[in-house]
Amino acid sequence: MKVPWPGKCCIICLGAGPLCEEHLIPRALGGRLTSEFLCSSCNSRLGHDLEAAAKSDPSILLAVQHLSEQIPSLAKSLVESHPHIGYSEPGAARGYIQNGEFRVRSQSLDDGSIIQPTDDATKSIATILRKSGYQENPIENAVAALQDASENKLVEVAPGLEVVKWRVDRVELDLSNAPMMNPLIPAKIAFEFLACHAGTAIYDQVPQLSEVRRALYTMETVPDSIRVDRLLSSKYEPFHGICFEGNDPYARVQIRLFGRLAFRVNFLRLSVGGPRFVYTHRLDTSEERADIIDESKHSEPKTALHAHR
Ligand SMILES: [Zn+2]
Repeated sequence: MKVPWPGKCCIICLGAGPLCEEHLIPRALGGRLTSEFLCSSCNSRLGHDLEAAAKSDPSILLAVQHLSEQIPSLAKSLVESHPHIGYSEPGAARGYIQNGEFRVRSQSLDDGSIIQPTDDATKSIATILRKSGYQENPIENAVAALQDASENKLVEVAPGLEVVKWRVDRVELDLSNAPMMNPLIPAKIAFEFLACHAGTAIYDQVPQLSEVRRALYTMETVPDSIRVDRLLSSKYEPFHGICFEGNDPYARVQIRLFGRLAFRVNFLRLSVGGPRFVYTHRLDTSEERADIIDESKHSEPKTALHAHR
């Protein structure tokens, strides 16, 4: 779904266009809501330096893994590109998923031994023996001994050359180096969603907005003018949503990712007028909706945007 944009300048650096298509929820997470309100430089900087890491957030990875039956292609692209650990009786080893199968990453251990995928190990044995001056016949025997070896048992395939063929019993995501999502990402989504409500009033030079723009430009820390709360709802569901929750006491935007991960972004001392929208995107059916909520219930500021003192 594309929200039309009436302005001519980038909503982050305020530079004159040309403007390009921006995904409010990162495309890597399956996001489809777009608008053309960022210059290409801000767009690519945010994409590479901020949003690219979102898909490594442990909560995101666990969510897509949980929903893998409902959103198979997204789960495949996010989960398979992330490092995994294979567990075996003799030990554990880091690796990755290729064509749905765990493949161990080749590595040398401190004791001089090597961990390799079996097909690579076959080639390594032949190379090592060839370098040691062995003829083809004993090399073939050594390779056959590896192929016939029982799993998890030490086997001497040639004099002084021992192998253990690991049976991988369990494969899990390696979340040890997975960074938590930078809170600037929900702040960016919320700021862009507010822009969809406020229109060109989002260009206002009030400190509350200038600070957010500066933070999204420098990508340092969440500014004092906003507060990002990280929440958890009860269950995973295959949808993303963004909701402008109103101005009580200040503008608040809630973002839901994969149903369960929720962020509330509070824009302190700022109110936004006009109709309030809730956007939902079913990830399993690709259905998108934007509904107006509670139009009459709240007393909204008359102007599109109101900065409190
Ligand atoms: Zn820009």
